[in-house]
Amino acid sequence: MSRRLLVLGWHNIDPTPFYPAAPGAGRRGFERQLAAIDRLGTVVPLSEAVDTLAAGGSLPPRAVALTFDDGYADWLDAAVPALDRRGLHGTFFLVSDILSGRIGAWWEELADAFDRCTATSLEWAGRTHDLSTPVARRAAQDALKDELKLVDRATRVEAVSRIAERIAPPAPERPPMFLDWAGARALAATGHGIGSHTVTHPILAREDAATQRHELEASRTALEEGLGQTVDLLAYPNGNAGDYDQQTMELARAAGYRAAVTTRPGLVGPQEPPFAMHRVVLTPLTGVAELFGKVARKGTGMARRVVRTLTPTG
Ligand SMILES: [Zn+2]
Repeated sequence: MSRRLLVLGWHNIDPTPFYPAAPGAGRRGFERQLAAIDRLGTVVPLSEAVDTLAAGGSLPPRAVALTFDDGYADWLDAAVPALDRRGLHGTFFLVSDILSGRIGAWWEELADAFDRCTATSLEWAGRTHDLSTPVARRAAQDALKDELKLVDRATRVEAVSRIAERIAPPAPERPPMFLDWAGARALAATGHGIGSHTVTHPILAREDAATQRHELEASRTALEEGLGQTVDLLAYPNGNAGDYDQQTMELARAAGYRAAVTTRPGLVGPQEPPFAMHRVVLTPLTGVAELFGKVARKGTGMARRVVRTLTPTG
């Protein structure tokens, strides 16, 4: 028995502008990862693991919870079928205004504009970004993405649409990259877990208290009413240290959540606060060695504990 939990987090399975990969590579990689996790660990529903840790109980040996953020449409035809073939449970964190089609995903819209970029340079915020080569475009995209994470959501969304207008022709019609409410209901009907990833995917600590409260409460209400089930798990958008703070954690508890996952790598132990749960974010292309490396950035002791967590002891 164990009192440690490894929470893993994915976004999409198939390639997207923000997470590019060769066609089919995501599904193959995800299958390989699930096979390894199934062989090495014991997958538990995140909700049950939160209860167990809160009650001071023991988890199965090498306990792993599988989570997914943002509401990518490929969850229904790639992630869920792959999980179901192995009988593994996942928890899916949804953004209520993306389901409603009121907003898009700014990080995908920025990446898509760079994919279709026809400009050779961009003047932005007092800087000239060279866009004349793929390497330069990638550097500009990364610099702008990091810069935009420092401002509030309204400023960020406005900036993305202005940048897109200036570097690329209008986006063509394409199949939706994200689930709508019908898709979310189909997902909920599969029996996998559903959590909130806020209303509009703001970086919460960059917003005032009233906005944070609204993002936490209204998303929970919308998901509960829209899907007819309790929603009391939260994933902080972006989720790094500094993207949520003490006030965010208190507001999350007050909004009725039981726990929240971050994107800060590490293992969750009984001493960790339930509103700052460590989580290791991977893509379908992440290998097991790289996974351990991500956790190892927390310290070599942590890496050893993950290896122990995932390595059968006989
Ligand atoms: Zn997200």
